[in-house]
Amino acid sequence: MNPFIFEPKIPRVVFGAGSLQFLTREIDAMQARRALVLSTPAQAAQAKLVAQILGDRAVGIFPKAVMHVPLELAREARSEANRLGADCMVAIGGGSTIGLGKAIALEGGLPILAIPTTYAGSEMTSIYGLTEAGMKKTGRDPRVLPRTVIYDPELMLSLPFRMTASSGLNAIAHAAESLYAYNGNPVTALMAEEGIRAISSSLDPLHKNPLDITARCDTLYGSWLCGTVLGAVSIGLHHKLCHTLGGAFNLPHSELHAVVLPHALAYNSAGAPDALARIARALGVQNAPTRLHELLHRYDLPVSLAELGMPRDAIDLAANLAVKSPYPNPQPLEEERIRKLLERAYEGAAPD
Ligand code: NAD
Repeated sequence: MNPFIFEPKIPRVVFGAGSLQFLTREIDAMQARRALVLSTPAQAAQAKLVAQILGDRAVGIFPKAVMHVPLELAREARSEANRLGADCMVAIGGGSTIGLGKAIALEGGLPILAIPTTYAGSEMTSIYGLTEAGMKKTGRDPRVLPRTVIYDPELMLSLPFRMTASSGLNAIAHAAESLYAYNGNPVTALMAEEGIRAISSSLDPLHKNPLDITARCDTLYGSWLCGTVLGAVSIGLHHKLCHTLGGAFNLPHSELHAVVLPHALAYNSAGAPDALARIARALGVQNAPTRLHELLHRYDLPVSLAELGMPRDAIDLAANLAVKSPYPNPQPLEEERIRKLLERAYEGAAPD
């Protein structure tokens, strides 16, 4: 076993079907009185419900979150939080809404109570992202880590199956890359394997019946584990590629992860055979990249970057950006190889 340092800093977690009922108790435990509720426009009704539950503990609703947190939107949300005198935020939604909360917390330090409704895992990390002029910048800051997370699987019942599948694969991507991260450890590896297993084994039941609450519980449990390891270790080629492409071309986040993951794992497989074996074991197969690519077809997800709207002539630029600032990765970052990876992903070919 390699030597390691593990210093977990994770939010308080309240997990279980129906746990939204504990919201006011949790806000009181944070010693907050004036919550600003955040959501996307599509989830404004859920934000309204949250504000109703909060009663006079809610000072307003900001239902404008969008993907990749544009800087101008973050500024607008910060001034709204100031104007209303908010002393905390309740972010109900996926990574976009929680990301907006993080952007507010980054400047004012307001605590976040997150209620995730996708499997993206942002609620368990101190990673934030801000997009300015098509460039997404990410960083880590302890101020943006939510104080409390309420995981209520009942809120997942409205997530359409295709988003369920792509978001589940997004969570699996966190766990998969953590298994070859230079700063992983035996505990994060256990969480990662269990997270991949919990999610991958629940997707078929949810494909049959998206209202299967047992499978929703298992998937959300898996995404908690996957988000936790994302917060604890460094990220490699897969996440770097997705950040670059997502920010530059405004590509849908979870589908982008789902398309790129098989190719990124194939690229790294020779440098991380043990990690690839653990991922395959958790998926219950021999070959993880092949299986993850097959799942795109099985669940009727986009299989190519072309389908997601990336322009073909952006491949060279993306390959160049991916090697520009070096970071730890189990295989050397070679521009020509990454360009080939992106070409395969662009065309929807099987991983190689
Ligand atoms: P999202 O938050 O953009 O949600 C996608 C759509 O699904 C939105 O319209 C949303 O309103 C809707 N939706 C969400 N939950 C729903 C539900 N239960 N029922 C019905 N509709 C629902 O998507 P995402 O993939 O969760 O998040 C993507 C963003 O999160 C990206 O910007 C990404 O960079 C960021 N992210 C950050 C981290 C981190 O650690 N900082 C981790 C993962 C993702």
